[in-house]
Amino acid sequence: MPKSSIPLINPADPQAGYLARRAEIDAAIQRVLENGRYILGPEVAHFEEEFAEYLEHPHAIGVGSGTDALVLALKAGGVGPGDLVLTASLTAVATLAAIEQTGAAPIFADIDPQAYTLAPQALEETINGLKNSPGGNNYPRLKAIVPVHLYGCPADMPGIMEIAHRHDLLVVEDCAQSHGAAINGVKTGCWGDLAAFSFYPTKNLGALGDGGAVVSSNGRPADRVRQLREYGWNEQRISMMPGINSRLDELQAAILRVKLTHLEAANQRRREIAAAYLAALSNSPLTLPASIPGRTHVYHQFVVRSSARNRLQRHLRARGVATLVHYPLAGHQQPAYAKPDYRPLPLPHTEAVTNEILSLPMFPELTDAAILTVCEAVDAFRPGS
Ligand SMILES: *Cc1c(COP(=O)(O)O)cnc(C)c1O
Repeated sequence: MPKSSIPLINPADPQAGYLARRAEIDAAIQRVLENGRYILGPEVAHFEEEFAEYLEHPHAIGVGSGTDALVLALKAGGVGPGDLVLTASLTAVATLAAIEQTGAAPIFADIDPQAYTLAPQALEETINGLKNSPGGNNYPRLKAIVPVHLYGCPADMPGIMEIAHRHDLLVVEDCAQSHGAAINGVKTGCWGDLAAFSFYPTKNLGALGDGGAVVSSNGRPADRVRQLREYGWNEQRISMMPGINSRLDELQAAILRVKLTHLEAANQRRREIAAAYLAALSNSPLTLPASIPGRTHVYHQFVVRSSARNRLQRHLRARGVATLVHYPLAGHQQPAYAKPDYRPLPLPHTEAVTNEILSLPMFPELTDAAILTVCEAVDAFRPGS
């Protein structure tokens, strides 16, 4: 059989997500087309209410993308030029681009090697390092922490919030990969002062285009985000502060309302797929994702580690299994963010994982047959050969 005829299993498949709910999504799109309101109309207002209700959190504001959600949340929380924002280096570059867009600069702290998220102890050491550096000039510039719930695994929010309170730092959660994830039953997005969600098509809650949301426990910053997303306008359309244009559109909001009603089932299916991978690969030489007591993982990605990662990836590809690496370079290893000031302390755990991580196919519509194909392909890999 020629190679090209092997059906490829994709790492993610947003089109399968659309086809699974086609009738409902088509009806929602038709409703918007016929309604005649295309920007900030009833669909956005309903979606904001329904998303806030889903999170059991008071305020949600739809914006143009996850990156914009981070920028607007940070700005609404008072972050601006000259400030420093602590975050993880193992993240999408969007996290770092957003911090820089406010005029602030990122400061990287190391991750917990089990959870792949900011380690409270590394955070504390990084803060103390800034405090005790000659002159301690940078400590007063520290304004915020952006924990990233990477791969759908919640960061240690109780530990991070305790440090934030002690040092009087704002916390903006990056929930782009963690819709529905929870710590002790409280969803990600509800722990920090503000949080940013992305609805990029491959995310756990994905639109069919760009979209994002800021959520907030407090009405004041929520109102600020509402103003900032439209030129700093107040209700009379007078600009009260410099703002931008970052709106969620009616079509995406209508699609997201459909997808939101299926989010719990979709996350449950992701957990089933993860359980099938974990069971089938338990004797393999790969390092598998850890399950951490109290934290509800939503498996945006199922990430394994292998010291022969590149060979494993080629081996899987030859057997029709396409995989991705999230991310081949940590933030501080990318030329745009490789500034020594951004990395006051070494990041050994971050650097140890970037050469070893591989994301196996993970999306709710993955079939049982495809899961089996992935497991058999992984099983046939001989790292020593
Ligand atoms: C996807 C993502 C973003 C950015 O979201 P966009 O909607 O693509 O702008 C930010 N942070 C993380 C961790 C992401 O995965």
